[in-house]
Amino acid sequence: MPTVLITGLTGFIALHMADRFLSEGYNVRGTVRSKEKGEHVLWLPAFRQAAADGRLQYCVVEDVITGDYTRAMKGVDVVLHAASPVNMSNDQTWEEIRDPAVNGTMAVHLAAAKESSVKHVVHLSSFASMCNWLETMEEQDGRVYDETSWNPITENEAARLPDTLSKERLIALGGMIGGIRYCASKKFSELAALEISRRPEVNCKLTVLCPPTVLGPTLDTITPPAQQGWSVGTFVALLAGKQAPVPPAALLNYVDVRDLAQAAIRAVERGVDGRLGVAAGHYDHQLIADRMRTLFPHLGERIPLGHLGEYPSIKGPKNTLNSAKASELLGLSYRPFDETVRGAVESISSMERM
Ligand code: NDP
Repeated sequence: MPTVLITGLTGFIALHMADRFLSEGYNVRGTVRSKEKGEHVLWLPAFRQAAADGRLQYCVVEDVITGDYTRAMKGVDVVLHAASPVNMSNDQTWEEIRDPAVNGTMAVHLAAAKESSVKHVVHLSSFASMCNWLETMEEQDGRVYDETSWNPITENEAARLPDTLSKERLIALGGMIGGIRYCASKKFSELAALEISRRPEVNCKLTVLCPPTVLGPTLDTITPPAQQGWSVGTFVALLAGKQAPVPPAALLNYVDVRDLAQAAIRAVERGVDGRLGVAAGHYDHQLIADRMRTLFPHLGERIPLGHLGEYPSIKGPKNTLNSAKASELLGLSYRPFDETVRGAVESISSMERM
């Protein structure tokens, strides 16, 4: 059986990647930052059987940059790099997000290049590395991004934020310095991955996946809702009560996490080399709230009313990630939005029952 190494196995997306590769007959090894985190994954209901069968294992690599990947990479056929901070807080400095994202990518991709058994590397990048986050959604209205698009921010600009922006621009962007830094970290880590893959001594295929917001159920049904990461947190925040405000959506393109995992496995099966945008369509928080209310009428008191039926993703200015290339090369189809909402809410409900 082939083996895939997934970095950052504890993550929302990484767990779905593990689930998908296991169901396609792969053995899965994942890097985690501590033994406790590794045991946590093996104990998740979705993975107990695979762990008991020895098909899912973890390797502790405490530091994504300086860690030793020799044991983790040994005999691995595919490497999927997913470990990276997903943090949009303004309190985080550029170095705090850049270093694990960019230097971590270099460490993982160089280690993969050294291990002769590795034939394919999948790098989890983002729409963040394609889109121009220094423009407002109004300025981007109607713009379509694809695999030829790059976030134009330079390292120097990212490092000097917020000083590189005028006061007016900062206000127009809602002061989202942390979000801009995160997006820059995704761009420069993707560039690092591409640079390594082009070195003459590197012999494996590289697929770069660029998803926008990734939504859907979590397989980590043990961690309490309030401690879940960014993607599941979107749904948790929308269970704040009928009178709570519906937060404005800063991002309007999405893909279901299970469809993204399908893209990864197909890219490996089909030996796809290159960069792929993977998006199902548009969403916004009001749309999520309204679909939740319809799909789960008994949760009505917990779901903000907001402005019923007024969807910024339909009526408002928006950009679009065109993922025609992924659809064509990978033969992808995307599940309906209701399935994404249903899965996310059901996984939160099962955490609440535990
Ligand atoms: P999660 O926050 O759920 O998982 C992040 C993973 O990275 C965890 O395993 C975490 O480990 C690890 N990690 C975070 N910071 C560090 C660090 N400094 N050193 C080592 N490991 C670290 O994120 P997602 O699953 O949502 O995202 C996974 C990848 O997908 C990221 O690269 C992200 O940029 C990308 N992506 C995500 C999108 C989304 O909407 N969620 C959209 C587009 C791309 P630990 O558990 O120990 O903290």
